[in-house]
Amino acid sequence: MTLQPTASHFIDGQYVEDTAGDPIDVIYPATGEVIARVHAATPAIIDRALEAATRAQAEWAALSGTERGRVLRRAADIIRARNHDLSVLETHDTGKPYQETIAVDATSGADALEYFGGMAATLTGQHIPLGEDWAYTVREPLGVCVGIGAWNYPTQIICWKTAPALACGNAMVFKPSETTPLCALKVAEILMEAGAPAGLCNVIQGRGEVGAALVTDDRVAKVSLTGSVPTGRKVYAAAAQSIKNVTMELGGKSPLIIFDDADIEDAVGGAILGNFYSSGQVCSNGTRVFVHTDIKDAFLTRLSARLSDVVMGDPLDEATNFGPMVSEAQRDIVERYIAKGQAEGARLICGGDRPEKPGFWINPTVFADVTDGMTIATDEIFGPVMCVLDFIDEADVIARANATEFGLSAGVFTRDISRAHRAIAQLQAGTCFINSYNDAPVEMPFGGSKLSGVGRENASAAIEHYSQLKSVYVRMGRVDAPY
Ligand code: NAD
Repeated sequence: MTLQPTASHFIDGQYVEDTAGDPIDVIYPATGEVIARVHAATPAIIDRALEAATRAQAEWAALSGTERGRVLRRAADIIRARNHDLSVLETHDTGKPYQETIAVDATSGADALEYFGGMAATLTGQHIPLGEDWAYTVREPLGVCVGIGAWNYPTQIICWKTAPALACGNAMVFKPSETTPLCALKVAEILMEAGAPAGLCNVIQGRGEVGAALVTDDRVAKVSLTGSVPTGRKVYAAAAQSIKNVTMELGGKSPLIIFDDADIEDAVGGAILGNFYSSGQVCSNGTRVFVHTDIKDAFLTRLSARLSDVVMGDPLDEATNFGPMVSEAQRDIVERYIAKGQAEGARLICGGDRPEKPGFWINPTVFADVTDGMTIATDEIFGPVMCVLDFIDEADVIARANATEFGLSAGVFTRDISRAHRAIAQLQAGTCFINSYNDAPVEMPFGGSKLSGVGRENASAAIEHYSQLKSVYVRMGRVDAPY
């Protein structure tokens, strides 16, 4: 399988190159080898993508919802049929094991295309009776949408943004993370193959400057970013200059509360999924694991035992269930946090070091006796580092769980149904879990509160963020003016 794409960008239905742009090497995180090279978009490339999208959007919005939906559903079918190849590409782009990518990445992208494809024909306005008069609303597209992606889920992120955008009649210009530029190109190519007009979904490469140029362009009506809080602040502020619509899917430091009546095996399973899946590079991870002191020893014993089943082999081998960090830079960040955790007095239960192999690996790491003020308990680490904190009292743990600027996710494990709902009702987070962690079906809205973001992806909630209502008042009688 060739990993080098035909060209760096996909614009107006074809691959386009401009080697005048800064080169970006694509590095396979499992080995550190350069596997491909793309070039950042030059101003000419950015202009071409926006022109193509503007033209295609008008053509696309003129179709019926049924026709638009058919294209999205066809794209979903193609993605599913090519799941193996797309998963191998995703594994090379991110380093995530094939065991994960075959189950989650292209398939969740296909789910979004299928779901919003099915919904496209149902996106209508309302009839509002007003006595003799009446009003109606029309649900209109916004225009050209820009998507900017993080590096942890490159296929899923473009699909989660593009599927609702296209269903509503918008066009997309997507900029993947410079760390993982490969997968989004395939999605744009597949949409074309499925019958989308040329220019409807464009992918251009580049670092932050390219993203910034897109966000400030007057041809753009909406910006959807998946990234860190510092980038979110910049993008939100830049979009505000022309009052653009925004969706911000940002970082988190989410709490996972394990009460003393929880099923220990399930709670350990939830904590593993919420900390070590994708080697911890998941925004919604429950990285502050509050464990009731009565079950702390049992929890740590089972956690350590189950972590001995981690397999850190070749990510393409289906037996491998744990991959490397996406980049050397990300590994360095995570290692600095691990050192800080030790310096600040957290107790290392396991991991904390690297395996002896090329690439950007870190062993899954668990700290116990973590206290609320420690740096590892306050900062988003975005790596395989679980912090276990003690608690006794329900009200106290909820206050501590909420004592963060973030508000992306929260989870509780308990067999007491009343306590589960009471706790969730008080937790300040957009996406919550009871006796589970990190499920993200397309049918359920996903997003954060507080610094973790604005807007929601997935479910019918996403439609509100990719369309606008036009209200039309219709007078049936004479106009009664005062003069
Ligand atoms: P990042 O913020 O460094 O970069 C995200 C994207 O923004 C990249 O494509 C980057 O090139 C672009 N960018 C950077 N500066 C920009 C600017 N000034 N204008 C426009 N675009 C700019 O994030 P990352 O390191 O790629 O990803 C990790 C972060 O993303 C973590 O904080 C994680 O929590 C968050 N994340 C959130 C979600 C979510 O859905 N809430 C999902 C995945 C990742």
